[in-house]
Amino acid sequence: MTITPLMPVYPRCGVRPVRGEGAYLFGEDGQQYLDFASGIAVNALGHAHPHLTKAIADQAATLMHVSNLYGSPQGEHLAQRLVDNTFADTVFFTNSGAEAVECAIKTARRYHFANGNPERHTLITFDTAFHGRTLGAISATNQAKMRDGFEPLLPGFAYAKFNDLEGALALIDDHTAGFLVEPIQGEGGIRQASPEFLQGLRKACDEHGLLLVLDEVQCGYGRTGKFFAHELYGITPDIMSVAKGIGGGFPLGACLATEEAAKGMVAGTHGSTYGGNPLAMAAGEAILDVILEDGFLDHVATMGDRLRQGLEQMIPNHDHLFDSVRGTGLMLGLKLKSDSRAFVAFARDHHNLLLVSAGENVIRILPPLVIDENHIAECIDKLSTAARVYVPAADD
Ligand SMILES: *Cc1c(COP(=O)(O)O)cnc(C)c1O
Repeated sequence: MTITPLMPVYPRCGVRPVRGEGAYLFGEDGQQYLDFASGIAVNALGHAHPHLTKAIADQAATLMHVSNLYGSPQGEHLAQRLVDNTFADTVFFTNSGAEAVECAIKTARRYHFANGNPERHTLITFDTAFHGRTLGAISATNQAKMRDGFEPLLPGFAYAKFNDLEGALALIDDHTAGFLVEPIQGEGGIRQASPEFLQGLRKACDEHGLLLVLDEVQCGYGRTGKFFAHELYGITPDIMSVAKGIGGGFPLGACLATEEAAKGMVAGTHGSTYGGNPLAMAAGEAILDVILEDGFLDHVATMGDRLRQGLEQMIPNHDHLFDSVRGTGLMLGLKLKSDSRAFVAFARDHHNLLLVSAGENVIRILPPLVIDENHIAECIDKLSTAARVYVPAADD
């Protein structure tokens, strides 16, 4: 037997965390790491945040799970808070981002079905998109590395170039249901939608009776300094998938929609055994308490500006390695002139700094949203020390 008990689908590195505190992780071997990866934009409040851990502990001791066959005071309360603070009129809770995307796809198809247009089933999606790993979600990207060997995939997707409005509009036909797009692509390399692109998609949806479905699983929930990234564009979606930061580490996601867009989602059309159970709702409430506190999102924006400044000031000193900074708030990317994965591994193994690599040789910098100036200084210090001694492999 050579296969590992943990299915070997991840190329796992040598860091083996057993404890976390704020912006730091501690390994099995006692090593301390500055965690500017945050479980890939999940640990919005860092590790072991007292408000979140207490809410989960208290709820676990009170009522962990009941079926969605029963009334849910917990779910109703969190859904109401989301409705009060967003474009949405209704919310379906899931356990992950991919499931939130699945619900968004189903809601979009069902809308046109309810309108008597079942042939309008195709969502136009974009290159280097990432929507998760379910069959539906991998069908919604044209990235071969996620799709190969899993065919036949789900029909009903067409692929356009990201930030190419004309190209996207040219794909609209009688089968089009709408667009599915990340306002800021995370896995794709912190690629930000241009205002003309996202606003143009919104306008096309309004003109053609299509749905704008935003995937804010990574860029939403305070990461950009706004509650949701689309607020930066002055538009709202019809449907939106959310996850990652929404539970701060507790597995939680959500699909938000307007009343009109959700008109097909009547009793019996969708479900989830765990989705929105009392324990998940307690985690979601605790996160929202902090994120919606006065000044919290401003703090994210300010820290984002400081971190960006620090990165930009550092680049000229290491311009053999670093190219440019991209992104918004605390969803930042540092573009490298060589393989980003190799540098992420170097910073991790030699300087105890945790980052995430992404497409286009970009390093994703996704710290907890609660960091302060000291964490930023420490990150910049580690990055420049690493850059000073790092030698890219010859073939990078
Ligand atoms: C992470 C991510 C997903 C998938 O979330 P999972 O919880 O891993 O299923 C979907 N969309 C985007 C934009 C993501 O970043």
